[in-house]
Order: sequence, then structure tokens, then C-alpha cells
Amino acid sequence: MKHVAIVLGTRPEAIKVAPLVQLLRTDPWKSHARVTLVSTGQHRELLRGALDAFDLRADVDLDLMTHAQKPGELTGRILQRLGHLFAELSPDIVVAQGDTTTVLAAAMGAFLAKIPFAHVEAGLRSGSLEEPFPEEMHRRAAAVCTKWHFAPTQASKQNLLREGFSESDIFVVGNTSIDALRSVLARPARTGSDLLSGIDSSRRLVLVTVHRRESFGESIRAIFRSLRSLAERFPDVVFVYPMHPNPAVREVAIEMLRGVEQIRLVDALAYETFVHLQARAHLILTDSGGVQEEAPSLGVPTLVLRNTTERPEAVKSGVAALVGMDEQTITTTAAALLSDPRRHAQMAKKVSVYGDGRASERIASVLLHGRMSPDEFAPPHLEEAR
Ligand code: UDP
Repeated sequence: MKHVAIVLGTRPEAIKVAPLVQLLRTDPWKSHARVTLVSTGQHRELLRGALDAFDLRADVDLDLMTHAQKPGELTGRILQRLGHLFAELSPDIVVAQGDTTTVLAAAMGAFLAKIPFAHVEAGLRSGSLEEPFPEEMHRRAAAVCTKWHFAPTQASKQNLLREGFSESDIFVVGNTSIDALRSVLARPARTGSDLLSGIDSSRRLVLVTVHRRESFGESIRAIFRSLRSLAERFPDVVFVYPMHPNPAVREVAIEMLRGVEQIRLVDALAYETFVHLQARAHLILTDSGGVQEEAPSLGVPTLVLRNTTERPEAVKSGVAALVGMDEQTITTTAAALLSDPRRHAQMAKKVSVYGDGRASERIASVLLHGRMSPDEFAPPHLEEAR
């Protein structure tokens, strides 16, 4: 029996490790693994909303979130506390997902304690250390401490090979975000029924998320001006914007968008509500990494509000477009999709470019049995239009 410590700190990490935790706690895996789920508490409420969708709770909560935390200080605190915890628990394997401060500290902490580290969602690269900042550095530094690189796609494997990592340590498994998405969509939403039923089904829905550091300041204002002009131009469309709690986004959203009849500003949503809302959307505008993975599986055209993306697969398949943060470009591109049904239909294709829902199974088989089963993830061709 292997003792597996799975470390997480933020909402997307909770969503993306949850399917692995659930799998390892069910037959036949549970006779080979004992899981300790460790939360650093880098996020608090958002994390809870994500874990609830999977009926999970952290076994150990380090509760390290503080007001206005600085990345360097937080890295130091997490590293110190994880060092003590790893010494006490002595796990056989440490697992973390993604590119946050928590992941960097978990990778370094495991490395320093000489515990093999498994990196889930390995090999994503934007190519610029400035964007996303500081996450691109976190991913690269975590890779150096990693024994098993679980790459979601062939492109992410190629990034790791280019950096000199050994092919025998890289496993293309798909993204666990698709495992999570499929499991939650398989049942009706248990949360958010007021919001979901309150949107007139005859009206088109545009779902918006904006939260990245690179968007703060003038870029966020440009994005919000664009939303206002789209709302004026398309009175039949409802815009829903679940606001990230970060005041740098939330306060500007309230200042610029409150009072516009078609724009619903709501608090960050529980994962299940958000997923069901995405499935119902006509168009998504987002700077989120996870949403860029989920939307193509749902066949919802997506405009990515960033200058670069470490998830190029959806753009290459033609179901997402990288539009940056310029007001005019966002408005023109979104308006074209809202006014031209043929153009919209061209992008409204379901593509499984990020996963087939079996990533956790592959990860578990490598960690516990030393070989990957089923075979590596290979995306099928474009599925039918919606
Ligand atoms: N999400 C959520 N509630 C929301 C908005 C997003 O549960 O109100 C989910 C979304 O489905 C995706 C994840 O949060 O799985 C993305 O997290 P986020 O955008 O915070 O981080 P990123 O993916 O950019 O690292």
C-alpha cells in the first residue's frame, strides 16, 4: 500500500485533483493506495466551492491564506509547513497539479525531503516568463523536481522534451479537468438552481470570467467597456459574469458594470453551477486556463482574453480565438459571432483536445503499477457540430 499525499491550494487545483482522489479511494485502487489530501489554504471560499462538488474535504488544512498575501512570503510559509508535514507523514509519493505557489512549494518540499513528486498538468508553457506571472516560472521550476510528468497533451510533452526531460518520465494522460467536467455533467446541478432557471431559455447567454494578474488595471477596464458596448448592441443577449473575489477585479466590475440590465454580476459560483452554465452558454469570454479546456468539450465558442496561451490546442482546432485585451478587437470579434450564425456554427464544435475523461485512471496506474493503462491520450477528430 502506497501513501499518496495530494497537495492543493486553489480552486482549479481542487477541481483537477478531485477525480484522482475519488478514484484512489474506490475499488480496486483503494487496496493499493492511502490518500492524504492536504490543503495549503492558498484560497479559502473558492476551494470549498470546488471540493463540495465532489463531496471532498481536506484531511489536513494548513490554512495559510492571509490578507493581501505576497507570492514570495506565501511560498516560504508553505514550504516550511509542508517540510514539517512531509517529515511527520512520510508519504511515499507527493502529487500536485498545475502552476500555483502551492505547486512550486509542494514540488520543492518533496524534492528536499527526497520523496518522489508527481506533477499533474505538466509541460504547459506560454514561452514567456512574464505571462502568466509568476505561474510560468512555477511550472518550469516544479518540472526540475518532478519524477513523473503527467502531460495533458502531445504539445505539452514536446515542451518537456525540448527542455531536456527524459521521454521515459513523461506520460500523456489528458487533462483531469475533463474527468471532472464529465463526472459533474453526468448529474443535475445540486447548486445554483435560482441562477440557472432565472435565465430566460429563449435568450442567448454569454458567460464571462476575468481574473488573471496580467488583466489588472487598464486591460480590465477595456474588457468591461467592450462588454458594455456589446450589451447595448445585442439587447436580446444575457451576460453572466461570476466575479473573482480579488478586489482588483471585483471593485472595477461593480463600478463599471453594475446597473446594466443585461449584465448579471454574481459572486464566484460553485463548480457544478458554473459547469452547467457553461454548457448552456452561446459564447464564452475568458482569461481562465481551466475554462479554455472545458469549453471545447462542451462545444461553446470561446474568446480568450489573453495575449498568449499555454493551451494552443483549442485555437488550432478553430473552436477558440486568442483576442487579447484590446477593447476594439474583443468587441468586433464577439459582435461578429453574435450576429453571424454561420460564423458561430463554425466554432461551435465539440472537440476533445484536452482529455477523454480517463486521465486520472492513467495517472493512478503509473503511480501504483508502474505502467500506463489505458494507452496514452490521443484526441479524436472533430465531433459533430452542436
Ligand atoms: N469555475 C468555478 N466557478 C466560477 C468560475 C470558474 O468553479 O465562478 C471553475 C471553472 O469551471 C474551471 C476553474 O474554475 O474549472 C478555473 O479556475 P480559475 O479560472 O480560477 O483558474 P485558472 O484555470 O485560470 O488557473
